[in-house]
Amino acid sequence: MFKIFSNDPVHDPIKKQGSTTEIKKTTCYMCACRCGIRAHLRDGELVYIDGNPEHPLNQGVICAKGASGIMKQKSPARITQPLLRKAGSNRGDGEFEAISWDSAFEILTKRLSHIRATDPKKFALFTGRDQMQALTGLFARQFGTPNYAAHGGFCSVNMAAGMIYTIGGSFWEFGGPDLDQAKLFVMIGTAEDHHSNPMKISLSKFKRAGGRFISINPVRTGYSAIADEWIPIKPGTDGALFMALMHELIRLEKYDAPFLKRFSNSAQLVCMDSGAEEGLFLYDPDSDPINLDLPHNKYIWDKQTQSAQPCFKQGASPVLLGEYTMGPGPHQGKKVVPAFELLKRQVSETTPEWASAITSISAERIRKLALEIADTAFGQEFELPISWTDSWGEKHDSVTGRPVAFHAMRGLSAHSNGFQTTRGLAVLMSLLGTIDRPGGFRHKAPYPRQVPPNAKPPSSENDIKPNTPLAKPPLGWPTQPEDLALDSQGNPLRIDKAYSWEHPLAAHGLMHNVITNAVKGDPYSIDTLMIFMANMSWNSTMNTMEVREHLNAKNADGEFKIPFLVVCDAFQSEMVDFADLVLPDTTYLERHDVMSMLDRPISEFDGPADSVRIPVLEPLGECKPFQEVLIELASRLKFPAFTTPEGERKFKDYPDFITRFQTAPDSGIGFLGGWRGKDGEKPLKGEPNPNQWQKYAENNCVHQFHMPPEHQYMRNWNKGYLDFSKENALRQKNDPIMIAIYSDILQRFRLAATGKRPGAQPPAHLKDRIYKYFDPLPFWYPPLEDEVTDLSKFTLNAITQRPMAMYHSWDSQNAWLRQIHSHNYLYVNTATALTHGIADGAWMWIESQWGKVKCMARHSEAVDPGTVWTWNAIGKAESAWSLSDNADESKKGFLLNHLISEKLTLGGFTVSNSDPITGQAGWYDVRVRLAPAGDDELQETWPQVKAYEVPGMSLKKEAGK
Ligand code: SF4
Repeated sequence: MFKIFSNDPVHDPIKKQGSTTEIKKTTCYMCACRCGIRAHLRDGELVYIDGNPEHPLNQGVICAKGASGIMKQKSPARITQPLLRKAGSNRGDGEFEAISWDSAFEILTKRLSHIRATDPKKFALFTGRDQMQALTGLFARQFGTPNYAAHGGFCSVNMAAGMIYTIGGSFWEFGGPDLDQAKLFVMIGTAEDHHSNPMKISLSKFKRAGGRFISINPVRTGYSAIADEWIPIKPGTDGALFMALMHELIRLEKYDAPFLKRFSNSAQLVCMDSGAEEGLFLYDPDSDPINLDLPHNKYIWDKQTQSAQPCFKQGASPVLLGEYTMGPGPHQGKKVVPAFELLKRQVSETTPEWASAITSISAERIRKLALEIADTAFGQEFELPISWTDSWGEKHDSVTGRPVAFHAMRGLSAHSNGFQTTRGLAVLMSLLGTIDRPGGFRHKAPYPRQVPPNAKPPSSENDIKPNTPLAKPPLGWPTQPEDLALDSQGNPLRIDKAYSWEHPLAAHGLMHNVITNAVKGDPYSIDTLMIFMANMSWNSTMNTMEVREHLNAKNADGEFKIPFLVVCDAFQSEMVDFADLVLPDTTYLERHDVMSMLDRPISEFDGPADSVRIPVLEPLGECKPFQEVLIELASRLKFPAFTTPEGERKFKDYPDFITRFQTAPDSGIGFLGGWRGKDGEKPLKGEPNPNQWQKYAENNCVHQFHMPPEHQYMRNWNKGYLDFSKENALRQKNDPIMIAIYSDILQRFRLAATGKRPGAQPPAHLKDRIYKYFDPLPFWYPPLEDEVTDLSKFTLNAITQRPMAMYHSWDSQNAWLRQIHSHNYLYVNTATALTHGIADGAWMWIESQWGKVKCMARHSEAVDPGTVWTWNAIGKAESAWSLSDNADESKKGFLLNHLISEKLTLGGFTVSNSDPITGQAGWYDVRVRLAPAGDDELQETWPQVKAYEVPGMSLKKEAGK
């Protein structure tokens, strides 16, 4: 049994002195930040991991998790062989027999080929925090199932979609704060888990250079602990703060009018007449649309001629305010206003006083913050002598710096109002003119992309056919109701109801609803669910106990409601027990992997960059990388992209696939951009290079392409950059990417709800919902859960975040990291705790309307009095992750998920507890109350759940000797 205080070391770093040593470079995967690392081996055994000083991302910096990767290799929770659930046993009982990989592939091939030949959507593939979505998405598309997504729908899709539908880029992998040139940094709703080491390096330099750092967050931990000022805010109210800041900036006329007129749709004319064009931009039928998907041929109102003119007419003077009537021409007599006028009206009532009552930040502080960001953006403006040419041919001698940078993450995103909140932030940043400018927000390739990118999801039964790849990628970006994934009867095409009228812009799917929907047969039943690296019976699901029952639910005939459940994971998580078939994955140190330009690369502001993992160790036991599993299955199932014209297997293995796969015949674009061309002489685009992996191995596992300075800024409208991005397939077109202050895409859905727009319309019960939330301008509304909660009883907000030293649920089997966190507390403001009679360190109950959990309290001054919080995913089921039966993780640690429902009944119908626009899980919307535990109560967390060992966990025996 694995015991933390055992005298028997799990690993002895001082043995075998004097033996041969070796250093191998690869990429960390102890969290998703993808730092470069060096694995130090002695006689082939991993003895030490440090940061790679030559890696551009982390420059040698390593965190506690990264250095502890060595103990992941030694984890007693490693699964080492394929396992098949014993016939007649129940899911969750851990009753397995070992089988060979050949048998596992035979079982899968037989089952999946039948599904593919009959009804491909009966196969669903959902993955957790993996970094290979370009491959898993390709697999799903080639299979022909729309039922595919990664974890984004329960992570931060609101952050991605809210930004991408506004500015064509987003935070973290795709963009971020330019702290090298910023003077003021405002961080909102961010814990310390995203962009971890790079953010720490940037913050350190920023603070040393005298920058001012303000953190807005209900909790002051992590990065916020070194902020110059912490502004506590009530969870789910950030949108109200942004509305008030916009109110102030517009009231004081402190916004970048030239930037807005030229680079956003602020000056473009919106039709105000009732009817099919209401709230939409008017188009000039006589001018070139440039981009047929999202045409640019709109109008502005020209101050000089007092008439509507094509929006990019040279010499025109567009206005931002006022109300006008279209003159002679195709739109004669129509009432129009510039989009900015509508924004001004939208924020006219959102005063600091209004926001103060919602956010708990004083009106005075909100006013001061508005002045502070405006004074920095405009008072400390600077010019960089970098010449560039815009999309309309105008040459500029410099780029203007507006040194206010923002950064935001899940604190904004994980609410049912997160999309509009994130839009609010993106519009606020745009008012300040800080988009892709020095000192503000800057993009990272492959972004910026069109608003939104042009991939569309399957939108009819005809897009899904037996033995045929999907006509469109499973995930995309709808721009109109006709893009929704609905059948001819209006029913959802996807098991998670993504892109249905319940969640029209669900760009990352809704993984959190898959199990519940599949068990209920709503919208239909499936046959096989394959889960990779996601703990869906524990910390990655809401309503944990009921979902665990769902996984074991049977029909009247005794068959499981989800007939076949495949789990691929490297460790014995709580989910593994429920599998019918377990596929043992490798660790990140035992496999090839790519951080691809087709997915989530590691690009920097100055150019595209991608990276790889190269194995430093042999796989343990019979572990096989999931990448290899997919290549093998794709070959056996004879997917067109994986099969030669003669019907033979095309790729030997995953490294061969990465080397030779091209997105289209002879496109020159593959998963990796480095050293392409047969001699490796071509960056980003070129024919496959058989020595590509070798080149990455020789170059710190990274390829960087440094763009010339004239391509590094203003990329939404930078002709040189846009030509480059099209040439290298970062975009399909090179037209300018206009900031959508006003979203006519949202308005199309709203019009559909009113019945004024021809074409697809929402069902009657969802019309009000679509109308309300698809406001083309940002707005704040209370989280949906408030509507069904007695706020006089459940007065507190409860949220979670990840600690700096652990990532997801992976790390509780890591002997070093669990010395930092073996259990979690509920952090309660001291005054709040005392009001409830809860002492520091005491056992207590936290209760929502959905459930209750017993835990231990910790008094804290670093949390807003109206909020309680805890670390996510530290609490475990008993015996899970190979921990001993009485480990702290299961006896003292707890999971807040028990208090959160995955569904809400609103207005008489039940929907997912998610953002009504994107389907983002509303993790942070739950309201709770507290009570002390009784003196006679058992001092152990509740509820208690048992997990079971699975066969083949050989290291456990060694560790527990
Ligand atoms: S920040 Fe993440 S990727 Fe970087 S060293 Fe730490 S765990 Fe590894």
